Amino acid sequence: MKKIYLDYAATTPVDKEVLKEMLPYFSENFGNAMSIHSFGQDALQAVDCARGKIASFFGATPSEIIFTSGATEANNITIKGVLKSYYSQFATNYESSPNVRTTKNIKPHIITTAFEHHCVLDSCKAVEKENLAEVSYINPGKDGLIEVSDIAKAIKSNTILISVMYVNNEIGTVQPIEKIGKLVKKINATKKESEFKLLFHTDATQAVNYFECNVTKLGVDLLSMSAHKIYGPKGVGMLFVKKGTAIKKIQDGGDQEYKMRAGTHNVPGIVGFGKAIEKIQDTKNKKQNMAILKLRDYLIEKVLREISDAKLNGSRIMRSPNNANFSFADVEGEGLLLSLDMEGVACSTGSACSSGALSPSHVLLSIGLKAEQAHGSLRFTIGKYTTKQEIDMTVKKLKIIITRLRKISGSVLTDYYSKK
Ligand code: PMP
Repeated sequence: MKKIYLDYAATTPVDKEVLKEMLPYFSENFGNAMSIHSFGQDALQAVDCARGKIASFFGATPSEIIFTSGATEANNITIKGVLKSYYSQFATNYESSPNVRTTKNIKPHIITTAFEHHCVLDSCKAVEKENLAEVSYINPGKDGLIEVSDIAKAIKSNTILISVMYVNNEIGTVQPIEKIGKLVKKINATKKESEFKLLFHTDATQAVNYFECNVTKLGVDLLSMSAHKIYGPKGVGMLFVKKGTAIKKIQDGGDQEYKMRAGTHNVPGIVGFGKAIEKIQDTKNKKQNMAILKLRDYLIEKVLREISDAKLNGSRIMRSPNNANFSFADVEGEGLLLSLDMEGVACSTGSACSSGALSPSHVLLSIGLKAEQAHGSLRFTIGKYTTKQEIDMTVKKLKIIITRLRKISGSVLTDYYSKK
């Protein structure tokens, strides 16, 4: 059975040309980029070359690109590093400061959204728990979009950071990053020299292949992403840090990455990342993205037409070209996912397994879905290798499985939730 992969938001296969560029850096060019000898210098040159390509893609300077192990790490550095910098400037001692608050030492405030990736949400929860910050979690509307006015309303005099994801990883909705950037700029213009400037971060992990990512246009101080979502390797990503941004490293060790991120460079990964970024800029990729968009629309229309009680989650218009997320009444998403997998189709649900029980996706709950609707949801994400035949085959299988599962469990589920 030929397998069908519709989970490109989870990860993408490494592009063949990307892999080819990476391979020598595992073997003959194996040097440590920090070594002074020629092995090290060759590796450093490759790292710098990739850095240059990535900086140019984002309209940044090379020294503003900090390589990390991925978006999770970049987002952790953002939340914790900005706070650390705040405390180093406005408190006498970072460690003791949570409990020793003077008028100068006000507990800082962070604004984020309720449907961020867990690495942002959990970083925020962690600093709240340590009493280092208060955090506001802005809810999206039913369409999966954040209102700029809701962000504006949440800003207080002690707000130091706003972190809003560019494209939601589950429902693919696109957030008004440029507009928030303008709002932040306006607010900062009213601040005194001595005050901590409001910083703006976006997690652009799901956006990079499809949307404007020039950091000046977006008005961001910090932007994170991961190479494995753009046909690059896993375990490498980056954080754009605008020159002069008040942020401190959170990991101690070597002086790599402008002393912002200690640890030996993942040279093959960084080389692959550079090539992947180069590839998404060529005209072939733009054509592929148009084809992806058409396939997504084809999938959405086919599912909504051919499967009863199916609903698209998130805005139909303001969504990533590769994302289709549906709720199916009277079915359980996990059962659906496993049945599809047995039929050779790979997709995903947003449910998380915690302590042996499935908790419904926080993203779907944040846009107002009930637990049973969230449980009956599936995400299909398309990529450059997806074909129309694969979409046809997927919908055909989906229809059969849903009919079967509804017969077995539909009434049981309705009964279960009505009693809850
Ligand atoms: N943010 C978003 C929006 C993501 O989709 C992901 C990956 N699912 C991450 C962060 C984490 O990225 P990484 O795998 O590089 O740690």
